[in-house]
Amino acid sequence: MMDRLSPRKILEKLVSFPTVSSDTNLPLIDWVENYLRSHGIETFRHLHELDPRKAAVFAHVGPKEVGAVVLSGHTDVVPVEGQSWNSDPFEVVERDGKLFGRGTCDMKGFNALAIWILVEAHYAGVIRPLQLALSYDEEIGCTGAPPLIENMSAVLPKGSAVIVGEPSMMGAVTGHKGGTGFHVHVRGYEVHSSIMHTGANAIMYGVKLIDWANKMNTTNSAKEPTGADAMFDPPWTTLHVGRIEGGTAHNITALDCRFGLDFRFIPGDSPEKWKDQTRSRVAEIEAEMQTVVPETYIELGETYGVPALRPEEDGEAERIVRRLTGDNASRVVSYGTEAGHFQNAGYSAVICGPGDIAQAHQPDEFLSVEQFEMGRAFMCKLLAMLRDDEGV
Ligand SMILES: [Zn+2]
Repeated sequence: MMDRLSPRKILEKLVSFPTVSSDTNLPLIDWVENYLRSHGIETFRHLHELDPRKAAVFAHVGPKEVGAVVLSGHTDVVPVEGQSWNSDPFEVVERDGKLFGRGTCDMKGFNALAIWILVEAHYAGVIRPLQLALSYDEEIGCTGAPPLIENMSAVLPKGSAVIVGEPSMMGAVTGHKGGTGFHVHVRGYEVHSSIMHTGANAIMYGVKLIDWANKMNTTNSAKEPTGADAMFDPPWTTLHVGRIEGGTAHNITALDCRFGLDFRFIPGDSPEKWKDQTRSRVAEIEAEMQTVVPETYIELGETYGVPALRPEEDGEAERIVRRLTGDNASRVVSYGTEAGHFQNAGYSAVICGPGDIAQAHQPDEFLSVEQFEMGRAFMCKLLAMLRDDEGV
């Protein structure tokens, strides 16, 4: 049996694994599995289908029945390259009441607390089960959550309320926008610009799609938001082009134009509807180009898709978090998380974790000792709730 570690010791261990999304997370997963198993907790591993250097891990404590509370975190962190750090990013260093280190805030602090309380729950015994779910590839489009959820549901009794521990200062966050992105490649036809009517300028056709995005933003902003959508800022779906490249010279019609088109959806809006509308606008522009030069085309590649987290009507996960934190404020955030994937898979989901999102991804990322302590107190209350059958 490995020593029973404190949350702080577990955090130090987790941070010491440089689990940047582009690299392996297996040493961390091995450690978590060994630690939990050494305490008699059965663990399950899901290997990435295409990249064997990555895995997710999940575990269950308590009666083998449905209805667990699930603690969900991601193991990957963002890179430190190009950032100026005052100490080794992969070592937890305490200064001025703050625990510095990559991932302390986003979100190994929560993971450490979740691993710790799972072991506590195992020894203390619980009436209602507790599950742990640690994913990979969250930072590169939340792509690790769907296969993890699918595997968990196949192997374990299905949990019902998921707490996604992204940094929220231990407040209850009940909603976020969804996102999706397209990579657009317009292939035009090069001629001298003096006879541009015989060519197809990829930039000038691409701009038609961008201008459509502008018009959609104007249309969306004029709509009256309904229900929970009104909580968002702004309370409408936005379309955005943040980068564009193309063209050869001022007097040649551009052969290529490439840009990214990103959407942030309010939960009441349908991503599929917007994807369809994008495809049909692209088809119109393409048809227009092809009447001039038939071999021109527009390619559309989907880059990522994160479902929105819809605030639930009297949701169970939210109810649990409100009860344990005493936080009754309504809060939605602009960043995407794995909570939307869990909700899509039929779980009640809420975001609640230690730390401030403002510190995530920054040089000298930190989690305050105070927030870490608040997280620990939260876990203790959660354990008490799981040991007690009253009202859970
Ligand atoms: Zn995160």
